Amino acid sequence: MGAETGQIREHPVILRLAVPVPLRRLFDYLPPAGLTAADLQPGQRYWVPFGNRTLVAVLVDVVRESPLAELKPALERIDREPLFDLRSRQFLQWAADYYQAPVGELYAAALPVALRKGKPADHWAEQWLELTTEGKGLPETALARAKKQQELLQLLLRSGRQSRTTLNARGLNNSVCKALVERGLARWVAGPTAPPPMEDVAPRPAPELNDEQRQVIDAVALGDFSAALLEGTTGSGKTEVYLRLMARALGEGHQALLLVPEIGLTPQTLRRIAARFPDHRIAALHSGLADGERARAWLSAASGVADIVIGTRSAIFTPLPRLGVILVDEEHDGSFKQQDGVRYSARDLSVVLARNAGVPVLLGSATPSLESLHNALSGRYQHLRLRHRAGNARPPQISLVPTLHQPLQEGFAPQSLRHIRDTLARGEQALVFINRRGYAPALTCDDCGWLADCPHCSSKLTLHRRQRHLRCHHCDYRQPEVHSCPQCHSRNINALGTGTERSEDFLTHTFSDFPVIRVDRDTTSSKQALDRLLEPARNGEPCLLLGTQMLAKGHHLPKVTLVVIQDADGGLFSADFRAPERMGQLLEQVAGRAGRGDLPGHVLVQSRYPEHPLLQLLLNKGYGSFARQLLEERELTGLPPFRAMALVRAECEEPRWAEEFLNNARNYLQALAPPSPQLQYLGPVPALLERKSGRFRFYLQITAEKRGLLQGLLARFTQWAESNKNRRLRWAVDMDAQELS
Ligand code: ADP
Ligand code: ZN
Ligand code: ZN
Repeated sequence: MGAETGQIREHPVILRLAVPVPLRRLFDYLPPAGLTAADLQPGQRYWVPFGNRTLVAVLVDVVRESPLAELKPALERIDREPLFDLRSRQFLQWAADYYQAPVGELYAAALPVALRKGKPADHWAEQWLELTTEGKGLPETALARAKKQQELLQLLLRSGRQSRTTLNARGLNNSVCKALVERGLARWVAGPTAPPPMEDVAPRPAPELNDEQRQVIDAVALGDFSAALLEGTTGSGKTEVYLRLMARALGEGHQALLLVPEIGLTPQTLRRIAARFPDHRIAALHSGLADGERARAWLSAASGVADIVIGTRSAIFTPLPRLGVILVDEEHDGSFKQQDGVRYSARDLSVVLARNAGVPVLLGSATPSLESLHNALSGRYQHLRLRHRAGNARPPQISLVPTLHQPLQEGFAPQSLRHIRDTLARGEQALVFINRRGYAPALTCDDCGWLADCPHCSSKLTLHRRQRHLRCHHCDYRQPEVHSCPQCHSRNINALGTGTERSEDFLTHTFSDFPVIRVDRDTTSSKQALDRLLEPARNGEPCLLLGTQMLAKGHHLPKVTLVVIQDADGGLFSADFRAPERMGQLLEQVAGRAGRGDLPGHVLVQSRYPEHPLLQLLLNKGYGSFARQLLEERELTGLPPFRAMALVRAECEEPRWAEEFLNNARNYLQALAPPSPQLQYLGPVPALLERKSGRFRFYLQITAEKRGLLQGLLARFTQWAESNKNRRLRWAVDMDAQELS
């Protein structure tokens, strides 16, 4: 704080802190009253005054000199023990530089909410029960006459000390513990936070690996950096590979990090891992946790107590002092890329972290991203394959169902309905995939052509008939359903198109003897809700599942033998160059839900353009060939992953200002580095969703042959843009942007 004097001032000791504000720099403070140099350790949190606020900042460095004339003291130290070790601090700084992000905001993103707000870490400190020398000397058969005490002894012998919470969750209550303590076999010690206990599940032994799986596992060496793409068909046993690699890392005393997509972190996934590792401490980091639970899980990971850490994208920033292996499941999934605030890719960062930590990283998918596939094909990553489904499951048969000039019923071709009927009649399950939730994606007046638009976005309102309202899926604006036209008062109001609600009505009516289970964001407000909803399907009764992409992954439903994809055409004609890639991934993933058990599967893909070469390629040759063809096109057109691409985004209620800002940005950048065959500028152009929540959105696209050149330019740009004083204009750098929307 304070003005720069151009002259360096010496102080006995200065704190250089990451403060959660949108400025790309660190801030210097004097130590809080009463603390000396010996009390200061990088990685601790401090309360600091900032403007007229008080913020939680993280100490990054202790220095002696500052360019600032007047320094304020920090107010208070929060942690005695640092929360961030050296490696994670270096990693966060690297990410801040790469994504042109304010480092203070990255530290904030790394912390769970409760710690971000300044709650002391020792609030969650634990009591741990450990064996005394005498206890450690006993055989597992000791204490046979007190079953509970024996169980406790065995647990402590096998897996070391245990927290009170874990013991209680396992039904080993305080009196059992007390009995062991009184016998002089165990003692309580104060220790670090333990992860919240997992649901109790029966241990399940591992299946015998098949040859392909064994080869994959043998190809991954612990103890050194390596990056590998595991390209394996759906159901080929990738998860089994992750579990085995985890087991190996745990066996050597390391932690394993498993990153999963947002909708991949289901209770089913957690149960599968808990059942494999009943004696290990598992921390799950996801948005479904209460703040306190999440802080506990995070602290247990950061202190090295948790052995296995499973989390969605922000888990990549959790310090893991004993890290031994990183696994990324469904690495192509869009949820690994944060699309607002600090725009980072957890998938890409996982490779950086693995290199820093000297550990292997395995990126797994049935439908790899073109980025990872390119890295594998060009030899930067190892390319590991699982070509066959594990166990008895066979690949499904896929057919195209043309929908043009067909008598469709609520979007279903007669052939599709016939197959659904036959499947249910055989006592099997069918899954219908529809990419839209709500009743209908648009509401119109048949007399004057009025359409229900969102007043804040350039988009239509979706009719949600169950809730009797119209809703914007971009800004969540809602208004009551209308029954007469606001423009001409006609009552000929018509719902256009089909969403999941409308299909549910139709299918329930058509197949009234069978349960219809609708799965979308409106029926599954919590992860548990999804689990409960799918219960009948898991029980194996004949039923009809209907849903959005929530159904596309993670669920192992062996009785599903038919998958109907209602509309495959979404990605064929989009303005977003990544749309075909995403369409291919989604179709292959949904199709992969069919025939995962002993019964053969069949997939019906409805399309208006069954002759389209991309669809033909995808369905006849599979995603692997499809993706390789897309890669060739990207190379010819100079797009990622062959070039680095970044967007500079700007949004404002006043569209002219956003455009002008980006025009100035372009002029500024072009003066530094003129356009050339190696460096291209496009824009400013309006985003695909031009107006959102009342703000007009534009971007400037920059593609460069060399990532370094782009990085350098963006660093200069952020310096320039931070001096932009228009408070109503928001700007952001989106390095390796995934969406043009
Ligand atoms: P993926 O993650 O590739 O979709 P999974 O690891 O979930 O595949 O495996 C699919 C199914 O096959 C699961 O039910 C799993 O238990 C089973 N499975 C995996 N590996 C084997 C194996 N080697 N032998 C028998 N069954 C296996
Ligand atoms: Zn009208
Ligand atoms: Zn809206």
